[in-house]
Order: sequence, then C-alpha cells, then structure tokens
Amino acid sequence: IQKIGVLTSGGDSPGMNAAIRSVVRTCAYHKINCVGIYRGYQGMIEGDFKPMDARSVNNIINKGGTVLKSARCMDFRTKEGRSAAHKQLKAEGIDAFVVIGGDGSFTGAMVFNQEYDFPVIGIPGTIDNDIFGTTFTLGFDTALNTVVEVIDKIRDTASSHNRLFFVEVMGRDVGHIALNAGVGAGAEEILIPEEDLGLERLVESLKRSKESGKSSSIVIVAEGDKTGKNVFELKEYVEKHLPIYDVRVSVLGHMQRGGSPSCYDRVLASRMGVKAVEALLEGKTSLMVGIQDNQLILTPLEMAIKGHTKIDKELIRVSDIMTT
Ligand code: ATP
Repeated sequence: IQKIGVLTSGGDSPGMNAAIRSVVRTCAYHKINCVGIYRGYQGMIEGDFKPMDARSVNNIINKGGTVLKSARCMDFRTKEGRSAAHKQLKAEGIDAFVVIGGDGSFTGAMVFNQEYDFPVIGIPGTIDNDIFGTTFTLGFDTALNTVVEVIDKIRDTASSHNRLFFVEVMGRDVGHIALNAGVGAGAEEILIPEEDLGLERLVESLKRSKESGKSSSIVIVAEGDKTGKNVFELKEYVEKHLPIYDVRVSVLGHMQRGGSPSCYDRVLASRMGVKAVEALLEGKTSLMVGIQDNQLILTPLEMAIKGHTKIDKELIRVSDIMTT
C-alpha cells in the first residue's frame, strides 16, 4: 500500500478531525501518501481529492465537525456509483481507504470491499454510541459533556421557579446518551428506548419526588424512548395528571453534535487513526477499529453493522438508586 484515502461520512461528530489528523500523520510517519476525500462517498465518486501531509492537519485536533466535510450519498448505494468511485480512486492511485462514520458508511465500505477487493478500515464516529464492537464511539464523550453542561444550566432556572423540565436528548433508537448524561446531571427520571418505565410510574415517581421536598425535577427523554409520547405530549400528560407542577420542555437538538472534542475523544481518535492505518499496512481489511477494556480491537465490518449495543443495566440500577 502506497497511498491511503481518508473520508468522513454520514452524520458528523466531535473527534472526526482528530481522527483525520491521526490517519494523515500515521501515513506520514510510515512514509506513505495520504489523500483527503471530501464530502464522503459523494466526493469519492466525483474525485474531490486533496493530498494531505503532516502539516495540512495542523490545529484541527480541537475543532468540532469535519474539515473534510461529510455527506449522504445516494449514488454510492448503486453499482454504477461505486464503479465511478473505484475509477476515481484508481486514477488517483489510492489503494486503500479509512472511513470515519456510522453503520451506513461501514455498509458502503464493506460492499465496496467485496466488489473490488479494495482494502478498507472503519473508525466509528457518532455521538450516539450505537455501534457494536466498541465501548465508545468518537463524539460520545464530548456529547455527554455538552448535555450535562446544558442540563446544569436548566437546573438553575428549574430550581429557581420550582419547575419540572422534560429535556430531550439525541441517541436515535438507543438510550446511551440519555442514561449517562442523566446520571451525570442527576436527573430525576430517565426515559430510554431500552426500558419502558410506563407513564403511570412516571407520574407516581414525580409525585413522590415533589412530596419528598425536591424543588425542581429534570426528566431526560431519549429521542427514541418507548412511552409513545414526545416531550411536548409528555408535558401535556403530566400537567393533566399532576397539576402540582409547572412544566417546561427543552429539546437540545444539534448543539449536541457540535463543539470542541473532549480530551477523551481526542485521545481515542488519535489511537484509532494509528490503529486503522497500521491495520491496512499489515494487510488487514473490512474491519472496524474499536475500544474495549482500554485496548484497541478490530471487528469485522459485517459484525459491527449487524450487532447491537447493550444498555448498561448496572447504570440503570445506579440511576434508580440515585433518584431515591
Ligand atoms: P450516521 O447514521 O451516524 O449519520 P452513517 O454512516 O450510518 O452515519 P448513513 O447516511 O446511513 O450514515 O450512511 C452514510 C453513507 O454511506 C450513505 O450516504 C451512503 O453513501 C453510504 N451507504 C449507506 N448504506 C449503504 C449501502 N447499503 N450500500 C452502499 N452504500 C451505503
């Protein structure tokens, strides 16, 4: 392998730049060429490439988003699109790529590898932490810190006015952000897709919480939670069944995806980038870099795509005890 391409694909997450920097510098360290592929698979199809050396990634480790830009690309889902991408890679002399993204991006890489026997390695970049084969994805830790910081602020106003806040956080169909940020921010209740608390129990618990003398309450709601009600409907429901509360709603939204990556995410990205490039140089392919017990591991892309992450049951119990 003489030339490695690097791209970011799908939704962005903090830490992607740190991973790009690591891939580029690991290539420089091993004296092989590195090419940045802009706008994910769309840029691959269009040949939107730029050679990168160690100096071209100065001062990006601390930046959120991705300097290579990201995109969703319908064409890469077709044989014709992937064929066009393959031609562009060959014309540029790129003989392997590292893709930083989520399971969709890994599916694209895996299919491409099968069709063209083209070496590919994935690095998991998403705030949702929903990828099998790694305890942490890039951006998760930063997103947690962002969410906790905002909830601390919401609590200031909630307790000044004796209010109940429903705070919706991201996470798609998993509750990792909600559960971890909820415990970290001392939320009274955490509603996640993996467990159905039930609306009656929620109302009961909020009632008890008020009676026990709490001046404010924060309920974290994962966007995919199972109550069947969104945060605004939850507000209405509680106002109707528990009129003792003045209820407010806050949907945190895309701020959770932005911001300077945490030290943990920067270190993880740096480690994963090194591992990804060195795996390619060792002749490995169609694998995802992950972390488990603080060791970097490689999981077949197919397993990373098909597998499901598990919610931390012990943390659910801790949360239950903390909200006593
Ligand atoms: P996230 O879900 O965190 O935003 P992701 O990588 O899962 O990240 P997707 O939009 O699902 O995001 O996928 C990114 C890109 O990967 C798609 O726009 C498409 O180009 C490519 N891709 C996804 N699924 C396939 C597939 N089945 N075959 C080929 N390419 C695919």
